[in-house]
Amino acid sequence: MAREKVLITGAAGFLGSHLCDRFINQGYHVIGMDNLITGDLRNIQHLFHLEQFEFFHHDVSKFVFVPGDLKYILHFASPASPIDYLKIPIQTLKVSSLGTHNILGLAKVKGAKVLVASTSEVYGDPLVHPQSEEYWGNVNPVGPRGCYDEAKRFMEAITMAYHDYHQLETRIVRIFNTYGPRMRLNDGRVLPAFIGQALRKEDLTMFGDGSQTRAFCYVDDLVEGIYRLLLSDYHLPVNIGNPDEITIKEFGEEIIKLTGTSQKLISLPLPKDDPKQRKPDISKAKALLGWEPKVTRQEGLKITYEYFKSLSNEELFKTEHRQFV
Ligand code: UDP
Repeated sequence: MAREKVLITGAAGFLGSHLCDRFINQGYHVIGMDNLITGDLRNIQHLFHLEQFEFFHHDVSKFVFVPGDLKYILHFASPASPIDYLKIPIQTLKVSSLGTHNILGLAKVKGAKVLVASTSEVYGDPLVHPQSEEYWGNVNPVGPRGCYDEAKRFMEAITMAYHDYHQLETRIVRIFNTYGPRMRLNDGRVLPAFIGQALRKEDLTMFGDGSQTRAFCYVDDLVEGIYRLLLSDYHLPVNIGNPDEITIKEFGEEIIKLTGTSQKLISLPLPKDDPKQRKPDISKAKALLGWEPKVTRQEGLKITYEYFKSLSNEELFKTEHRQFV
């Protein structure tokens, strides 16, 4: 019997590439799509020899054509770090608005079930803690994160409209901070920033006084939650993340201990609209999907550190990974 097909956009990115692996392992035929602005083919190069994997180099903001049947579509194409939004704000807006529209249109034509990657950024700088799916958020539409946050909010709205108006089978995952192998070393996110700095023997750049909090989920746990959500029959947004909250200062201290660096934490100005606290309420994922994270930060950080250590010196000292077009 022919394998069922899954389209994954953002396939060459951090999360997209791990999803490709998961769906290949589950016995699907995976079509990966990416325009490679922030994605990196090295994340999926191990899949190219497989007959059950294909890659389309395409920008999902433009009309998407995929031949044949599709069972599932996972829309994971988007820049996903504050540094990227500043560099490529228009592409960031387009991929989650025009791109999501194209993906939903494709899903409708194919009769495919579609899961879109939303984010804890829809809660903005939250006034409710921890954040449950019922909280509507506190987003600044015209601030530096506006292009990402508002595009993701639009993504949720248009996905709900296709569900309600066209009876499309849709799923919305709200992803909280996630880490693991294949994160981009220089994407500006705190974990690759701190580990990269430790490996280069630089001081670790803590923004503000480090009292802001985040809660970090290991990528394998996230992928499991997404897989379960896709297969569920629940169409409203579901938070997937690890509720183990930590201040950025404590996190920096953990990285110093893990890497054994003799460098120290230094404080740089806090970026505008940087959320002061973030922690997912995962009661819904627990109840609906029987899901909760299994990998502790200690275990996950060890694996991730090994990955960053395996990168070449050239990679480690490169200041910029991509030319933005
Ligand atoms: N951060 C930091 N130093 C860095 C990069 C980030 O202290 O070199 C802080 C940042 O201000 C934020 C937190 O770490 O409070 C998480 O930042 P990240 O960009 O990883 O994700 P997000 O803000 O989207 O959660």
